[in-house]
Amino acid sequence: MIKIIPVLLLLLGLALTVNFAPGQDPGLATILSVAKSDLRLETVRLLDLDLLMEVQGRVYIVAAPADLQKIRSAGIPFRLETDLLPPSAGNFPRLQGNLNGDFHDYYDVEADFNAMETAHPNQAKVFVLGDSLEGRHIYAMKVSANVQLDVDEPQVLFLGCHHAREWISVEVPFLFAKYLLDHYGSDPDITRLVNSSEIWIVPLVNPDGLEYSIHTYRYWRKNRRDNEDGSWGVDINRNYGYAWGFDDIGSSPTPDSDVYRGRAPFSEPEIQAVRDLISSKNFQALITYHSYAQDILYPWGYTTTHTPDDARFRTLAAGMAQRIQAVNGRVYTYGAAADTLYVTNGDLTDWAYGTRGILGFTIEVPPIDVQNGGFFNAEADIQPIFLENLPAMTYLIGQCIASFVPAAGRVNGQDRRQAPPARPNIRVKG
Ligand SMILES: [Zn+2]
Repeated sequence: MIKIIPVLLLLLGLALTVNFAPGQDPGLATILSVAKSDLRLETVRLLDLDLLMEVQGRVYIVAAPADLQKIRSAGIPFRLETDLLPPSAGNFPRLQGNLNGDFHDYYDVEADFNAMETAHPNQAKVFVLGDSLEGRHIYAMKVSANVQLDVDEPQVLFLGCHHAREWISVEVPFLFAKYLLDHYGSDPDITRLVNSSEIWIVPLVNPDGLEYSIHTYRYWRKNRRDNEDGSWGVDINRNYGYAWGFDDIGSSPTPDSDVYRGRAPFSEPEIQAVRDLISSKNFQALITYHSYAQDILYPWGYTTTHTPDDARFRTLAAGMAQRIQAVNGRVYTYGAAADTLYVTNGDLTDWAYGTRGILGFTIEVPPIDVQNGGFFNAEADIQPIFLENLPAMTYLIGQCIASFVPAAGRVNGQDRRQAPPARPNIRVKG
């Protein structure tokens, strides 16, 4: 009886909230949670349930009506959690086999990078840029012809996963590395790019956060800094050292905020690693991937004032957006970050441009909004999202190759250090 009464109450709740709610599609998937102690793995496999995440001893499941029936028949007590997630059944991920399915976790990135280096010793080299707070490596892969040599050629950087819950942002740069290596020697355009540039890929800037998002709390955003006030995490994309803490709108001084900027610029080891890579190289451009929104953003983020290079940024962003749209028809909006999304300070692209003149872009990949899935990309969307971004990546590298000036001809062209201007009018969007 102890178990039956809550189940009956829940079934009553189910009938009221799912089956009879006006305007709701009865075929819609439901999110429910089950105490981990009530759910043996054999049961999950037997019932072919779709696990979403585990939070504080409860396992969350994406349940189609047929799955609900199976869970009821098995007598497993459950709790409805559909309010946690946007009501768009088609966009829920299917995560068979383990909690993150086809998405990479830290160990997958490590294993795959090592395997790719072994398989392509002349075009791929793996570097450890530094370690996270919990001691995981921040990995980079350099892709270039004769990769062991340092040649004076254009350098472009692609990064993913500053924000833990943005799982798809690992996949886009990771799959780009794989695509370059798989097509080198057979695809003449890819071969030409790899022969004439240095392409660096850092798919997982925040490994501690990603692991926490996979195993503990799916919506986790920050790193895993113990703020020593009971709160955890710094938003590492508000911790870069240009216009850091410019105002309390584009970042927060409050440790439990999701956009907490940290105690000092570059206080976080994950982005110290990124800083040190960028400082040791001569990148012309970079793209840092995030989700979600379908946006291509460029500096400034901290102010609505435009950069002296606004026309160049706009041309490149338009070129990328046009190529992306040509693949699956999805429209990515582009513009200066503070105009397009909302003001941010201490982000990577402002720092990279502000201190080194790097043409830095933030690309927020699909979906376009929370009604279409928010941070929850379906596994089936990984390839389409990568493939639509692929021509934008190759276009940007091509533009860097076309405009490259060899070291002998460069005149202090890479240093744009300047004090941030006086505080302008700030407006916030989004
Ligand atoms: Zn993000």
